[in-house]
Amino acid sequence: MTTGTPPVIRLDGVGRTHPGQPPVVALRPTDLTVHRGEYLAVTGPSGSGKSTLLHLLGLLDTPTTGRYELDGIDTASLRDRDRATLRGRRIGFVFQSFHLLPHRTAEENVVLAQVYNRTPARARRAAALAALRLVGLGHRTDALPSTLSGGERQRVAIARALVNRPSLLLCDEPTGNLDSANADAVLARFDDLHAQGFTLVVITHDPAVAARAGRRVAIRDGVLSEREGLPSEAEVPAR
Ligand code: ADP
Ligand code: MG
Repeated sequence: MTTGTPPVIRLDGVGRTHPGQPPVVALRPTDLTVHRGEYLAVTGPSGSGKSTLLHLLGLLDTPTTGRYELDGIDTASLRDRDRATLRGRRIGFVFQSFHLLPHRTAEENVVLAQVYNRTPARARRAAALAALRLVGLGHRTDALPSTLSGGERQRVAIARALVNRPSLLLCDEPTGNLDSANADAVLARFDDLHAQGFTLVVITHDPAVAARAGRRVAIRDGVLSEREGLPSEAEVPAR
């Protein structure tokens, strides 16, 4: 943590309730601070509020209570367009099912993520290539997703998520669809990114992912708590 730089994430009593009869409390009021360069794993059983937290952190949803500052910016004060811009520039997403454009090459998928950059097309291509090299796919830039393995597809998705040098990489079950060899390749990339100073928040059921993160929190029934030590196997089912 650097003095003078605001934390990447600061949640102050952030909660989310879905209206209805009765209302559903998806996340109870939560305090959480994540500093630049931290690697945080979020574990918890199905329905506990993990995706709710990820959507709030990713500016895909808004809290019903509390205050969320991203890089010191109070996100509640933003208009929709500014939220979208902030999301595009400062947050990279990695999802369980990759979400690559099927008719675009690996490189095109990464180039297209740079819509929020004002850089010229040539610089975008260069940045895409650099990002693909960073995840070990410099030799597959022209490949269509259908010709790549699951692990390679997820690495393209990681390249796409990091190409704009976001403040925050948010990952929802990034190894959920991968066999253990491919999952290991993805985890090695996360270790590299962590070593390079990226801030990572990874939601996972996978003990191998949680074990690798520098810090762990658990959610249960919408309540988030800091965890000491490693999660037990009973809490985090093996994949
Ligand atoms: P997880 O990702 O840990 O499986 P979620 O964050 O998706 O859990 O969901 C937390 C709780 O909020 C669950 O009880 C879920 O049913 C509820 N929930 C999520 N989205 C909605 C919604 N749009 N409307 C009503 N309830 C919801
Ligand atoms: Mg979920």
